[in-house]
Amino acid sequence: MVRIGAIEIDWVEEVTVFDPPELFAQMSADKLARHRSWLEPDYYDAEKGFHVGVLSWIVRTPSRTIILDTGAGNGKTRPTSPRFGGLDTPYLARLAAKGIVPEAVDTVLLTHLHLDHVGWNTVMRDGAWVPTFANARHLVSGVEMELRDPERGAAARPPASWQVYNDSVRPVLEAGLIDLVAGDEDLGEGLTLMRLPGHSAGQIGLRVESEGQVAMFIADVVHQPIQVYFPHWNSRYCEDQDTARETRAGIFARAAKENALLLPAHFGGDHGGYIERAGEGYSFRPLHSEGAEA
Ligand SMILES: [Zn+2]
Repeated sequence: MVRIGAIEIDWVEEVTVFDPPELFAQMSADKLARHRSWLEPDYYDAEKGFHVGVLSWIVRTPSRTIILDTGAGNGKTRPTSPRFGGLDTPYLARLAAKGIVPEAVDTVLLTHLHLDHVGWNTVMRDGAWVPTFANARHLVSGVEMELRDPERGAAARPPASWQVYNDSVRPVLEAGLIDLVAGDEDLGEGLTLMRLPGHSAGQIGLRVESEGQVAMFIADVVHQPIQVYFPHWNSRYCEDQDTARETRAGIFARAAKENALLLPAHFGGDHGGYIERAGEGYSFRPLHSEGAEA
C-alpha cells in the first residue's frame, strides 16, 4: 500500500506472465546486459524473460473505491492469446483480502479494452457472463468503445478478436453500467483522467494529486522499466508506434518534472516508481511500498 496525501493506493496481481526480450524490436544482448544488475530479479528473469504483472490498481479516496483495470478474468476463451485463456485464479479472494467486496466498488476505470485489462468485468453465472462490479459505474473511453465494437470500429477485424468485447464489455454495457469519457475529465478529489493514445487509440490514465503529492496511472504507456532508459522502444503490442512514442516521451517529461509516482499496468517488483532526469535521458527509482504483497 502507498499513500498519496489523502488517497490510498493498493493493488492485486492477478497473474504473472513473462515476455521474451523480443517484446522490444530494438532490444539487443548488450543493452540488456548493461541493465541486468538492477532488472533482476524483480523485472527480469534469465530463464523466463520480463516479468509482466497483470494488475488491478485499487484507489481509495475519502468517498470512493475505484478499481483500475480488471485483469484477464477466469474461464475466458482466448484462442489468440492462450496464456490468458481458461484462467482460474483467486482474484476475488485477493480483493477481499484487501477489504474489497465487488458490490462496494463504485467506480471501475478501464484504461483500454485489451484482454488483460477487462477480464474481471464479468463472471460466469448460470451460463452467462454477468457484471462482477454490479454497482459500479465503468468509465471507458468513447474512442476505445467505438474501436472494439464488432458492429462499429472492429467490424473488419477477424471474429476471434470480438470475443473480448462480447464476453467482457458487452454484458457491462447492456447492464447500463458504462459511462463513456473523453479522457480529460475532472473526477473531483484531485483525480483527473489523462489521454494516453498510442498503445491503443483510446487509452486513458488517471492522475491523482493530494496534499502536494502526485501519482499517475499510465496503463501500457510503458511495459517495462528498462524503457525509462530507452524511451523510444515500443512493445510489440503497441498499435500506433509513433503516437505511443510521443505519449511516452510526454509522460516521462511530466513525471520527472512533477516528481510523480508512475504506476503502469504491468511492472514487476512493487509495480511502480519514479523517473528522474539523468544527463540527456532518465533513470528509474523503484517504489518500495509498505507491506508489499507476498
Ligand atoms: Zn496490458
